Amino acid sequence: LTVLGLESSCDDSAAAIVRLFEDGRAQVLAERVVGQNAAHAPFGGVVPEIAARAHAERMDALAAEVLAEAGLKAGDIDAIAATAGPGLIGGVMAALMTAKGLALGAGKPLVAVNHLEGHALSPRLTQRLEFPYLLLLVSGGHTQLLIVEGVGEMTRIGSTIDDAAGEAFDKTAKVMGLGFPGGPAVERLAAQAADPDRFAMPRMLARDRSCDFSFAGLKTAAKRAFDALDAPSQADRADLAAAVQGEIARHLAERARRAMALFAARFETLEAPRPLVVAGGVAANRSVREALEDAARKEGFALIAPPLRYCTDNAAMIALAGAERLRRGESDDLSAPARARWPLDPDAAERAPATG
Ligand code: ATP
Ligand code: FE
Repeated sequence: LTVLGLESSCDDSAAAIVRLFEDGRAQVLAERVVGQNAAHAPFGGVVPEIAARAHAERMDALAAEVLAEAGLKAGDIDAIAATAGPGLIGGVMAALMTAKGLALGAGKPLVAVNHLEGHALSPRLTQRLEFPYLLLLVSGGHTQLLIVEGVGEMTRIGSTIDDAAGEAFDKTAKVMGLGFPGGPAVERLAAQAADPDRFAMPRMLARDRSCDFSFAGLKTAAKRAFDALDAPSQADRADLAAAVQGEIARHLAERARRAMALFAARFETLEAPRPLVVAGGVAANRSVREALEDAARKEGFALIAPPLRYCTDNAAMIALAGAERLRRGESDDLSAPARARWPLDPDAAERAPATG
């Protein structure tokens, strides 16, 4: 199966063509990602209207480019997949509308893909990975732990009760005036820290026994510590960046350990090392990866992280999710709506409506 995937749910416009083989292997035939960091940087965050306009201007051309690069015409592919949510609604519409137009024009099925399912399946783009696996999704908008038993079979066992991990990085960066996106800036600065233990950070959910996360207190603590400095130097900033990053990594690893224990009990017969997959932009962070690797080792798991370009938003993961859906005989009507909210696990969403 060969599927064209389109993505525009946040601040990256992307298109890709992925071939899914009978045995579950996937091959990326062509891919393009165009970011918008420069357009949003002056505002310290993604501005929905700017994002939507930029996506709308680019989607058609991106789709044409990947088709040309793969040496294919729209008629040669088996389906067109697009992220239909969750995300910024104006942006989501750009890829979805382009996909509908192409599907209609070429007489091919449309697959409306959940962006989070794309992230969840992304490790299967580059390696064999059997179900079930435990997934830690850590992005700019989401922080959750999911048991992935198959395409469309995901159970959320933990999620953030306030900010996402990526948001904690971005907000900390904003407090210190580091620009956007914050994660990479905080990581670079933290690497220069002389004294990473100088600023004490609160331990999030220290007495909570669930697999949930909380990050809002970190931003507050970082702001308080930063405002208390007069004329903060680069060295001060570096120490603070390291403190926040260290606590984010520690918290993620501690929660993941709980989830690994649950997963191991539920899938007792699954041989060790069991798979812990980390996906989403924050998975690019070295301290986070190291903390997770350490936690995984202790719990008899192996950490699996997709290559960086598939950790952040991309269209290859959307094309793959679309191909997996199509293989199961699923496709969508041309009236498929763009959705700002679309939880992977509707039951969990009902239990905790305020979390992402
Ligand atoms: P979602 O997928 O939830 O809609 P998103 O599209 O914004 O959100 P991604 O593109 O997966 O998310 O990731 C972006 C986030 O990852 C940002 O918050 C960014 O700061 C963070 N990030 C990227 N690189 C790093 C890094 N090296 N260290 C920490 N955080 C990082
Ligand atoms: Fe994403």
